[in-house]
Order: sequence, then C-alpha cells, then structure tokens
Amino acid sequence: MNSIDEKLQPILSTVLHRNSGEAEFHQAAREVLESLGRVVSKHPEYFDEALIERICEPERQIIFRVPWIDDNNQVQINRGFRVQFNSALGPYKGGIRFHPSVNVGIIKFLGFEQTFKNALTGLPIGGGKGGSDFDPKGKSDREIMRFCQSFMIELHRHIGEYVDVPAGDIGVGAREIGYMFGMYKRLNNRFEAGVLTGKGLVYGGSRARKEATGFGTVYFVRSMLAQSGTDFDGKRCVVSGSGNVAIYAMEKVQEFGGRVVACSDSSGYILDEDGIDLELVKQIKEVNRGRIADYVELKRGNSKFVKGGSIWDVPCEIALPCATQNELNGANAKTLIKNGVIAVAEGANMPCTPEAVQLFQKAGVLFAPGKAANAGGVATSALEMQQNASRDSWSFAKTESRLEEIMTNIHDACHNTAEEYGAPGDYVLGANIAGFVRVADAMHAMGVI
Ligand code: GLU
Repeated sequence: MNSIDEKLQPILSTVLHRNSGEAEFHQAAREVLESLGRVVSKHPEYFDEALIERICEPERQIIFRVPWIDDNNQVQINRGFRVQFNSALGPYKGGIRFHPSVNVGIIKFLGFEQTFKNALTGLPIGGGKGGSDFDPKGKSDREIMRFCQSFMIELHRHIGEYVDVPAGDIGVGAREIGYMFGMYKRLNNRFEAGVLTGKGLVYGGSRARKEATGFGTVYFVRSMLAQSGTDFDGKRCVVSGSGNVAIYAMEKVQEFGGRVVACSDSSGYILDEDGIDLELVKQIKEVNRGRIADYVELKRGNSKFVKGGSIWDVPCEIALPCATQNELNGANAKTLIKNGVIAVAEGANMPCTPEAVQLFQKAGVLFAPGKAANAGGVATSALEMQQNASRDSWSFAKTESRLEEIMTNIHDACHNTAEEYGAPGDYVLGANIAGFVRVADAMHAMGVI
C-alpha cells in the first residue's frame, strides 16, 4: 500500500469509521487521499473549511424498496439506491447499475469516482451513481420493464434535468433507459429529455453514446502510447468483458491496427488467434443477449472458450480491463508483466486492485486509471444533455470528434498535472489531482456547503 500524508490520515480514518464495511468505497477513497498529499503541501488552503472531508461525504444517499411482480405472478423485492455525491460542478450525473452485487458501498465508491471523472471531462456535471441488487440475467423483457417502472416510481422524485441525470451502467442499457424514461414522462407529465442519458436515438438520445466509453478508452491509450513514441499498430490486445464498453473498445483497437485476441464474460473467456470477430460478438451480446461461450459454436476456425479461466493469462502487449471492479489482481498483474504488457487502461470502474496498480507502475507499464480512461461515456452523456437543451441532434462524426477532443484534453490534463506535482508518468496521481482541484475550487467558491 502507498503511504498517506499524515494530515490526511485522520480524514481517511473518519471515512473508514463512518462507512464501515464498505470495502470498495474505502479502496477508492484511500487511492484519492494517497494522491492528495502532494496537493496539501503545495496548496494548504484546501485544508481550510474541512474541504477534503466534505468531498469524501456524499451530499445525499437514497435507499428505497423496489417491489415488482414476476412472470409467475410472485411479488419480488429489491433494493434501490441513488447516491448523490457532489453537485459543485453541475447536476449529479452518473449511471445506474443493476447487478446482484450492488450495495450502498459499491454505489458510494462509484459515485465518488464519478465525481472526479466528471470533473476531468471539463463539462458542467456533478457526480452521482445509482442502482439495484436486481439481477437482470434470465429475466424476461416484461419483467425487466416492470422492474424499471417500479424503480422509477420511486426514483423520479429525486431526479430532474437540473437536479440529477442518471444513465446506464452494468445491466442498464438503452432498453432499460427507455422503460425508465417512459415511466418518468408519465409520472411528471412532461417530456424532459435531459433527465436521463443513453436514450434511444428516436426520442432524444445521442449518436456515439453507445460507443463512447470504449472508443474513449482507446483514444486515451492512443495518447498515452504516443507520449512514449509508439502506437496500436500490430499490437496484441486483450479486452476483458463483452458488454458495451468492451465491444466498442475492441472496435476502436481494430480500427487503429491493433489485434484483439480475447474477451470474456463472467463464465470464462474466448481466445481467437485470428482476431475477435466483432460482428459475431455484437450478434451474441446485443441481439441474442447470450453468453460469450456461444462464440465458439457459431464461429468456424481457430477459437476456443476457456471456462472459468483468467483472461489475464493470455499474453498481450495492451490489456484493457472493461468488465467490473477488482477483476485484475496482483497475481494477474505479475502474469501480464511477465508476458510483456506495455500498457493497461481501465475501461471499467476500478477493475485493478491497488496491488495490481502498484505492480504495473513499478514495472514501468503505462497505466491509465478508470476515472480518466473511461470518462468518454459520461462525457458523451453530457453532450447528449447539451443536444437536448438546444433541441438539436448532432451527426455521429461531430459527436465523435468532440469525444476525441475531450479524451485528448483529459489525457493531457492528467499527464501535465503529474509532471507539475513531481510524478511524471503517474496517471493515477495526475487524474486524482486534476479532478480534485476542479471540484475543490468550485466548492471553495461556494462557501461551506
Ligand atoms: N456508467 C458510466 C460511467 O461509469 C456512464 C455514466 C453516465 O453516462 O452518466 O461513467
């Protein structure tokens, strides 16, 4: 574990005490506080008015019951969450996750990360996150709809285009956003397009939103590689996951000349030495809503499915963890380093454990933290809000070129901040400090709130 500045230690102790048992939130808070030691010595004013302690405490945490009726006419109960973390820079903004692992600690860590991530985009959005322990796996379309409607019957009173703007995350895509938007519209009797992002194109969604997180991650890696005088061309890449982020990260890697040989889901990974056939993955995941194992059955040729195996055993030069938190641990990092990895970027939120991050950094592997590398999704959500507010709809090319520009700016901000604070090449430190300073300056200007 890295050391923490002695002035920040009491703040961390308070966070641990106040949020006991919330391991993921502790992990995320510790990482940011570790980076802030250098800020405190340079800018003691951030110590005034308990600003850092306030930044670690969500503005509001909402927990609610979500009752719904399944296809067998049985009543089911889930728990819903929305953590409105920080609104210093704009309305709370962040996705909704439906996954059985969801609890208040997970949503809090995601909301905390989101606050700094959103600040890094340079766009006027605060940070928040929501979700439920509902498991969409195996549910019928009607069950998904009834669940989303019940979730929104409670959530609607807490959100709004100037208040809090949810979007998708794991288990929540355009279908779920559509069901939630429909219920919000009905409950409020107003077509408030900017209340949710990730909407379908026909009713106010943005082009390139679906692709944005994955594309953005790869744009970030391109900048990071360029900084070290190299590029994607001919490089062997491994991308974990096979959801929205993974699929479009793979697409952009291929466009930039990289060779993606493996991707995964929670049951295992597929290896295809001919290069992953993305159209097939899209068919399996986006159309059939199937499992990645189906790939080997549908694809003739040189591919295999490794059930329960770790995708990080596959040798590669570039690794993009795009599945979920803590999916890549110290042992995985050692294997990747031994196999010659040169760059790792987090397409998911906090997929690498602290030990893995340290090992990469010590070994001189380029490492991009999620709050910088996966900010393209939320950035494009902010572009969707912008289009909604001006009742406009941009072309794919225009939206993507804004995304590219934003990702380049985020890369440069992280890179330059790391240099300014005496840690060249440390993108973790650069991202944490650059994000923190923006939120802190806005909070400072507003007095003790
Ligand atoms: N869930 C995404 C994230 O982790 C996107 C959030 C959004 O678009 O608001 O950043």
